[in-house]
Formats: sequence, C-alpha cells, structure tokens
Amino acid sequence: MLTSGIVLVLIAIGLAFYEYTTFRQSLVDKLVALGDVIGPNSTAALSFDDQVDATESLSALRNISHIVQAKIYTHEGKELAEYHMDEQRPRPITLPKNVWQRLVLSDRIFATQHHFLPSNLYLLQSIVLDKEKIGSLLLVSDLRELNEKLYRQFSLIGLVMASALVVAFLLSAKFQRIISEPVVHLARTMSTVSTEQNYAIRAEKHSQDELGALIDGFNAMLTQIQIRDEALEEHREHLEHQVEMRTAELSRANNELEQYVQELRIAKEAAEAASKAKSQFLATMSHELRTPMNGVLGMTELLWNTDLTSRQRRFVDTTYRSGQTLLAIINDILDFSKIESGKLELDRVAFDLRHTLEDTIELLADRAHTKGLELACMIHGDVPTRVHGDPLRLQQILTNLLSNAVKFTERGEVIVTLAKLEMDADRVWLRFSVRDTGIGIAPEAQSHIFASFSQADGSTTRKYGGTGLGLAISNQLVDMMGGGQIEVESTPGCGSTFSFTIRLEHQSADVTPADRQGMTGVRVLLVHDNPAIGAILEHQLTMLQMSVERAVSYTQAMEMLETAVQQENLYRIVLMERQMAGQDGLTFAHAIKSTSALAALHLVMLVPVSLRQEAIESQHTGLVKWLSKPVRQSHLQQCLHALLNGLDPEDSTRHLPQPAHPIASAHLNCRVLLTEDNLVNQEVTLGILDTLNCQVEIANNGREAVTAVTHGTDYDMILMDCQMPEMDGFEATRQIRQWEQETTRQPIPIIALTANAMEGDRERCLQAGMSDYLSKPFTLAQLQDTLQPWLAPEVKLGGQLAPEPSSPSGTAAEPGDEAAEFLIDRNTLDTILSLNNGLQTLSKVVRMYMENVPPVIHSLHDAIDHENAADVQNMAHSLKSSSGNVGALSLAAQFKELEGMGRKHNLEQAERLLAQIETEYEAVCHALLQEIAELETT
Ligand code: ADP
Repeated sequence: MLTSGIVLVLIAIGLAFYEYTTFRQSLVDKLVALGDVIGPNSTAALSFDDQVDATESLSALRNISHIVQAKIYTHEGKELAEYHMDEQRPRPITLPKNVWQRLVLSDRIFATQHHFLPSNLYLLQSIVLDKEKIGSLLLVSDLRELNEKLYRQFSLIGLVMASALVVAFLLSAKFQRIISEPVVHLARTMSTVSTEQNYAIRAEKHSQDELGALIDGFNAMLTQIQIRDEALEEHREHLEHQVEMRTAELSRANNELEQYVQELRIAKEAAEAASKAKSQFLATMSHELRTPMNGVLGMTELLWNTDLTSRQRRFVDTTYRSGQTLLAIINDILDFSKIESGKLELDRVAFDLRHTLEDTIELLADRAHTKGLELACMIHGDVPTRVHGDPLRLQQILTNLLSNAVKFTERGEVIVTLAKLEMDADRVWLRFSVRDTGIGIAPEAQSHIFASFSQADGSTTRKYGGTGLGLAISNQLVDMMGGGQIEVESTPGCGSTFSFTIRLEHQSADVTPADRQGMTGVRVLLVHDNPAIGAILEHQLTMLQMSVERAVSYTQAMEMLETAVQQENLYRIVLMERQMAGQDGLTFAHAIKSTSALAALHLVMLVPVSLRQEAIESQHTGLVKWLSKPVRQSHLQQCLHALLNGLDPEDSTRHLPQPAHPIASAHLNCRVLLTEDNLVNQEVTLGILDTLNCQVEIANNGREAVTAVTHGTDYDMILMDCQMPEMDGFEATRQIRQWEQETTRQPIPIIALTANAMEGDRERCLQAGMSDYLSKPFTLAQLQDTLQPWLAPEVKLGGQLAPEPSSPSGTAAEPGDEAAEFLIDRNTLDTILSLNNGLQTLSKVVRMYMENVPPVIHSLHDAIDHENAADVQNMAHSLKSSSGNVGALSLAAQFKELEGMGRKHNLEQAERLLAQIETEYEAVCHALLQEIAELETT
C-alpha cells in the first residue's frame, strides 16, 4: 500500500507541476500574443501622443475576459492610455517598485517581461517602431480562470490517486491472504514446536510456490530433528540401561571387594598374629637356646679351670669353641629376626673409632695369624676418631667382613682401610673397606651373597661353614647407619674387597696428641716383606713424625744399617718382622747386636699372638722388644716412646693380647642370693660364683627370693632370673624394693640375668627396680665385671646404692678446671678407675647414668605437675644416689633437696629446683664425657 501510495503521490505531484507550469506558460503566451496585436496598433497613437487612439487600441481587450487592466506608457514612462474591465471601479495597478522599474523603465527594446502575483499576471511588452522602443504595453490578467482550471486538474489527479489506492488496498488484502497467512502459520508452527519441544508437528502447505518450498524445507528439518531426537532418546534409554547394568556390576564388584577387604583384614590380623607369634617364638627360642648354651659354655669354662690333661684340655677347648660358634649363630639368627621385625635400634654413645677398629682386628688376629695371614688396618690421618654412634654394631659389621675375609683367604693378607669421605660441622661420612687376597667371588654370585641365607657357592657351607646370614645382617646395619649398601669388588682367585660407607656424628674437640717427646725425626728402619703391611706400618710411623726407611729382607736391612754407619747417619730403631721368607728375625737381631757399631740400636720385633709365649720368654734376653700384631697405633707410640726415653721397656708385655680363656678370677667374697629356676643354670652360675669366692644361696623362683630377703638374711647381691614360675623376677624385684622402702633399708643390688635378648628387656629390668642387667649366656669374666662395681667397698654404683653424697668440698680435681672440680668429684672417679677394667666400668656407669636419668627427670616433671609428692621423693632419692655414684656430688645434693621437698609434701619450689638441676645435669654429662675421652686417649 505504501509503495503504491508513494508512487501515486509522486506521479500526481509531477502531473500537477506540469499542469501548473504549462497553464501559466500558455497564459503568458496568450498575453504575449495579445501584446503583439495591440502593440503595433498603438504605435501611431504613441508617435502622436494620441490618447484617444491609444484608448481605442486597448478597448479591443474588452472581449477577453481574463484581462482586467491594460496600460500604454510612453517611452518616458508616462501613462498614455488605460483600460479597465470594470470601468465603474477601476483598480489602480499596484506593481512592486522593482518590478515596475524592471518592466516599465527598462531600455531593452524587445524585452517582454512578466511577473506573477498571487491573483494576477503582469506582462509588459515594449512597443517598437523602426527598431526603436517608443513605449510599453502593460497587460494585467486575472488568474481566476487559470486557478479554476488548475483546481479541476488537481481534483482529477486526486480522484485518480484515491481510486488507485483503493484498488491497491483491495489487491494487497487479497495478496496478504495468499502470502502472509502461510508465513504466519509457519511462524506459529515454529513457536509451537519450540515451546512444546514436539518435533512431530508439521506446517501445512498451501501452495507449490517458494513458500511451499520453505514449508517443505521446514518440515524436512523437523523430520530430521525428530529422527535424531528419537535416536537420542533411544540412545539415552540404552545408556540408562547400560548405566544400570554397570551400576549393578559395580555394586557386585564392590561387594566382592568388601569381601576381599574383609578377607584381607582377617589375613592381615592373622599375619600380625603370626608375626607376633614369630616374635614371641623368637624370644622364647632365643631364651630356650641361650639357656642350655649358658650351661654348655659355663660348664666348659669351669671345666677348663680344673686340672686337666692336655688331651682333655683340647677336648674342652673344642667344646668351648663349638659352643661359641653355636652361640654366634644363635645371635645371628636373633639379630636377623630383630632387623626383620624392625625391633633393632642403634645405640648412640661416644666412642673412639681407632680403638674400635683395632679391637675388632685384634679379635681376629689369632685366627688370621694361625692361617699365616697378615692382618692390619690403615686409618687415614684425617679421620676424626672421636665419634658418636653404635660401636658394637659397627664392630659386628667389621667382624663379619673380617672373619669372612680370613675364612676365605689361604695366603696373603687382609687389610682394613678407613678413610674420610666428607665431613660437615656435626657429621662425618667414613668409608671402610676390607680387602683380602682370598678365593674371590664369581661375578654371577656377587649380587646374591647379600641375600639372607645365601652363599656364593653351595659347597661353601660344607667346606667353610657359615649360615649366609652375616652379609645380610651387615648390609641392614650399614643401611641403618645411613650408608646404603655394602659393595663388593672381587676377582675369583685374586681376592675381594668389601666396602661400605657410614655416617657418624663426630665430636668437635679432638684430643691433643699424646706424648711424642724425643720421637720427631728419629730414623727408623722398617723391615717387612709384605708391601701392604709395610706401607701401613710406614704410615703409622710417619704419623708419629718419625723418619722411616724400609727394607724388604734382612739382608737388605743389614746393608742399609751398615751404610748408615758409614755415613754416620745412624738409625735408632729397627722395627722388624719376626720371620720373613723362611728366615728367622732373631738371627738377624743377634747379628745386629753382635755388631758393635749397631749394638745401641733398639730392636722391636712384631709377633703374632700365637707366638706370645715365645715372645715373653725372649723378652728376658733383652735382645728385642716385642709388639704384637696387628700393631695398635697407641702401642707403637708407647713402645717407641719408652725405648727412646729410656723408660722400662718391659711394659711391652701388656701390649700382647689376652689369652682366649681369661679365667683369672677375683675374690669377691660376698653373699649372693641366686634366684634361678633352671637347674643347669643354677649349677653353672653357682660354679662361677664359687670360683669368684662368693657365698651363694639359691631361690628357685621370685617368691622364694622375696621370702629369703624379707626374712632377714643380709645379702650383698641378688642375681635375679626374669622368667620364673610362680613369681617372675620383675615382680619379685618390685616387692623387694617396696619392702626396703617400708623398712628404710639400704637397697640391695639386684642384677637381672636373662636369656631374652630382645629390645626393651634392659629397660623393663631397670624399670622394675633392678640395678643392672646381664644377658645369658655369660662368661665368668662378664659376671665378674658386672658384679664387681656393685661390691667394691667404697664405690657402690648404680641407682639405689650410693651412700649419702658427701660435701663437694675437699675433692681433688684437675688443677685449673674449677668448673669440673665443682661438678664432679675426682676421688669417686679414681675409685672406680682403680677397679679391674676401671675405665670400661666408668664408661659403662656413665653411659647408664646418662641413659637412665633423662626419663626419670621427665617423670619428675610429671609428678610435680600432678603434685605426687611420694613419687617425687622416690625418684629424687634414686637420682641423688646415682649422681653421687658418678661423682656429681653437687647435683646429688640438689636431688637430696628435692627429695626433702617430696618428703615434706611441699612442692612449691620443686619445679624451679628441677630446672636448675637439669642445667647442672647437662654440664655434669659433658664433664663426664670429657673425662672419659681424655682417659681413653692417655
Ligand atoms: P657366611 O659367611 O656365614 O656363609 P655371609 O653372609 O657372611 O655368610 O657370606 C655369604 C657368602 O658370601 C659366603 O658364604 C661366601 O660364599 C661369600 N663371601 C663372603 N665374603 C667373602 C670373601 N671375603 N671372599 C669370598 N667369598 C666371600
């Protein structure tokens, strides 16, 4: 409609405009034609200025209806004649001035000009005569007629336009039904589909035109969507079905899993029970095995001490050794199981690496020398020897590697090397290696020898014995010491080197070297044919800052000595091997001594332990001084120092190792109550105690022991087995301790004797109130060592036994060390040191003291917190005594004060005092450790 309307309006406007301009132009043309007629007719009138004639000319206009006025002007613009259609009411001609100027006064000769005003048309035409303008004719036409005509024309156009619009409207209404109705229908269908999500609905098709095609397309699209929707629905249903199935499967699997978990839990509980049973079995087995071993070894030891023929002594020897081997195997198995069950814990005590290593080597020296093997250790100069760690376990690893090395080597040497790898402020990483020149290990066997119960070669067991456990245990121990794995390098037939690294804490202050007076730069001739051992001895002498030269045979040595005489650059010491390449060292020694120029030489001969007897005898000849192999650094130093400083050289006998059976017994002269249910053990212990000259009474179980003690017999010592029928050792000890407290008696030392070597046994014993602990089987020496400290008249060591501490004044401490003097009483330490194995005892006592005090201090805090005055009294009493025993008299006095607070039930100041005690305790421990370290090095 709009389009048609606009088109029609535009056409109408065009038409109207055309009509309008055409009409006006035709009017102008008409006037011009009139002018052309009237103008020439007026020329005469103008020429003669004849108004009448002029008026006559104009009167011809009377027939033309639309001319309302006319005028003739002279050339000067003066009006000559005029015509008015309505003569009664002539209207003045009102032309705008400019139009007037332009029309009338224009000089242009032929100019015809017109001007439309709203109701009139003015036309001015020049009147020309002989091509000269002589006047002007003004015609004024009325526009009414023109306007009427135009009005009619426009009305007609309007009518046509209106009709056209009506027709257009009718047509569009018709077309709308044909075109937009299907479109609206389609839109409605689309909206229904989208709101109802129903893709089954279809749009109706009414025609085959483009709309029909559009609807077809839409319907096709709907069909596709519907198909997809159905497929999707089907798939969803399928999926749901699958999910249902899977869920069912999963829940079935879940049920099965739960069942498995349940079964596993049962299995785990069973395994735990089995493991517990295994531990229990191990504990019991070790007890059961160690108990008869105690009998075997103890009895053998006692038998060895009786008068025997040499044949019998050999039998006893063999029995003893076999027993010890068996015990070693039992211990190995026990260790292995302890490691397996994670029950093995490493100790942390201060020790001297050099001593530990030299001790270990010394233990195996006899076996090595008997086989003709050289055995030595090389400790690099930069190794810090004072460390913290577990010396016994380290010794166990080394003993195992060394005994393997000795076992699998027939000739040559076994060398242990200790080198420092790395060191920081607290820790040092050390590399140990044990090298032998033995049978070696085949490459394919090297990987599995570390597995438990595994040996390089199946025939090994028969030929060399062993369980195949040693390396497995050692490997685990090395791992526990932060070293990872033991490594092996070996060439069959040439030998093996086992190496491992461990981490230890080192003690910051290293000891000042012992006296080397007169030794620096002294010339020493070393005579040794084994390059490795020679190198080690050379290193040891160099560490003493001596000047060393080496000869590899006696002949070469003699030549060197003679050359030295000639050059007047004498050697002062000859350190030589006892035998070399079948030659006797003593012959060489005699040769030297018989040469006058060499007679002043000091001769030191290295001798294996097996030749000790001969060594002692030869000593009286004054020919040579003896040093047992492997040579300890400290022994070498003491020996050479003594020789060079003219001291008593006979001292060298103490450098020789002790015999295999140290039976020399002390006379303890004390009254002992032996509480033991096992008859064999009773017999063995009785025998040993008898040897130690003790009066022994026997209690067959804890109850009998309690009865014996509480019925008035005074014992100096109670030996208490732990596992016994009726009443065990722990309960018996508790009852005895209680009775002692009630009757305010001095506590009797109670030593636990137990075959249980499992972790925690020691703690259990001490917790129950026992004074010390000895695990079965024990040797005479071990029992003697354990008992002696508790019986020495002045020094009653351990938890409950010390006399009231004496005043700290009047003690003799090291001069200049006032703090130490105040902290520790030297007299007490000296008394302990005067015992057999004094230093060992002191170390042990101090270690026990340091292990036992911290937990009690901890419990004291708890007791003070809970205002448990009785506990405070008891614990302070116990710590007072043990502090007194290690000479910490001032500390003991403070514990006494604390004990008093407990007794008076007044714990107000207890916490403050305990804090003070703790500080002093730290200082005491430090001073004690320092004391022991100094004693060890001198
Ligand atoms: P055992 O020595 O009790 O059999 P170990 O675990 O100590 O057990 O040693 C395992 C095996 O490793 C030995 O049986 C031996 O075959 C081999 N082996 C260990 N050390 C050496 C060595 N130094 N030389 C040769 N073979 C060795």
